[in-house]
Amino acid sequence: MRTLIKGGTVLSSTGAVAADVLVDGETIAAVTAPGMFTEADTVLDATGKYVLPGGIDAHTHMEMPFGGTFSADTFETGTRAAAFGGTTTIIDFAVQAKGTSLLSTLDKWHEKADGDCAIDYGFHMIVSDVNDATLKEMESCVDAGVSSFKMFMAYPGVFYSTDGEILRAMRKATETGSTIMMHAENGIAIDQLVAQALAEGRGEPVQHGYTRPPELEGEATSRAITLAKVTGAPLYIVHLSAAQALAAVAGARNEGQNVFAETCPQYLYLSIEDLAKPDFEGAKYVASPPLREKSHQTDLWRGLRTNDLSVVSTDHCPFCFKDQKELGRGDFSKIPNGMPGVEHRMDLLHQGVVAGEISLARWVETCSTTPARMFGLYPRKGVLAPGSDADIVVYDPKAEQTISAATHHMAVDYSAYEGMRITGAVSTVLSRGRVVVDGGEYHGSAGHGRFLSRDLCQYLN
Ligand SMILES: [Zn+2]
Repeated sequence: MRTLIKGGTVLSSTGAVAADVLVDGETIAAVTAPGMFTEADTVLDATGKYVLPGGIDAHTHMEMPFGGTFSADTFETGTRAAAFGGTTTIIDFAVQAKGTSLLSTLDKWHEKADGDCAIDYGFHMIVSDVNDATLKEMESCVDAGVSSFKMFMAYPGVFYSTDGEILRAMRKATETGSTIMMHAENGIAIDQLVAQALAEGRGEPVQHGYTRPPELEGEATSRAITLAKVTGAPLYIVHLSAAQALAAVAGARNEGQNVFAETCPQYLYLSIEDLAKPDFEGAKYVASPPLREKSHQTDLWRGLRTNDLSVVSTDHCPFCFKDQKELGRGDFSKIPNGMPGVEHRMDLLHQGVVAGEISLARWVETCSTTPARMFGLYPRKGVLAPGSDADIVVYDPKAEQTISAATHHMAVDYSAYEGMRITGAVSTVLSRGRVVVDGGEYHGSAGHGRFLSRDLCQYLN
């Protein structure tokens, strides 16, 4: 079964060229000068459109347990929504509960995702219980294709690890060549600010932002970088939101340390003003780190241009406004942390191209190529090249759309970007050679997506 995508502009991390893409079965057979092939079982006309490697969202949380509830998207609904938005791979987080083992956790997440996904998927492992057995199991995780481990300097009593525990895990990461991913906020200090706010009767959603100041993200980021330097471990800062944290990352990178960071669309487009919306509406925007003052956005876009921010992920972790976000009415600390976004990352970052913030090449690089290399999936994913999986997005850069909960495909009752006008829209999406979305129609199926056993990070000095 051969599919020819002809007449389009093929994008990569180095730029744009007029080229045709020939797909044979599940992989790409050739990327050629226009018109070299004419015969195929199916021909897709991409005239006037971009043809790019499918998006890779390296940070999602499908059906994740949080504070007695679960994030609203299952692997089935969440990966379908991702496909609609031009994302053809997710890397989700398996969450170790305290007192359980990493391998039993991994089994559990395989069970959740197996047979449900519309697109390919991998896992990172959240380590929340550092002990001799867990550290030993990190080796088995790497062998099982899970080569990155997330730790938390936030959420004391839940996911929090002490500096000593982080140090021990980082040593194991150095030994195995795996990557430590860090949620870098000073949770001990934040908990005091939260208790103080609640004691003073300040319970509304915007307090979530005020009690997690950017300085405490900057401090934790610097501390994580220092611990990584002492141990030699590769470090990847997740969902970087603050100028202070970016400065710390840039400093470490300038010194040649293996430190990387991602940001998310919500930090590029939304701000603490959204958290301050009246009548509890701000709860829709509660995620950690919190949305910042608008001034941080300028720094984050610059970081994407300079590669101090290498990746854009979503931290997709949707909770419905009704019944879920409402758990925190009157007490912001009980609002489930997380926002929906997996469907709109490619569009929102293309909007950054339209606005002149990033180039077309950086759009592809930050949303597909770099996440593939960062997490050991390249060149199978993240590039249109002979032999690569045929995960392909045909994107119409001139189409206009309005983001809305009424039309999105995520299983959540609101959109964080409600009413936002976007230039550009997905036309067709292929996952391993199969058309899964075309003209706004879904042609995929649960179970098409396969687990991706990942290699180590492909960027290390
Ligand atoms: Zn997350």
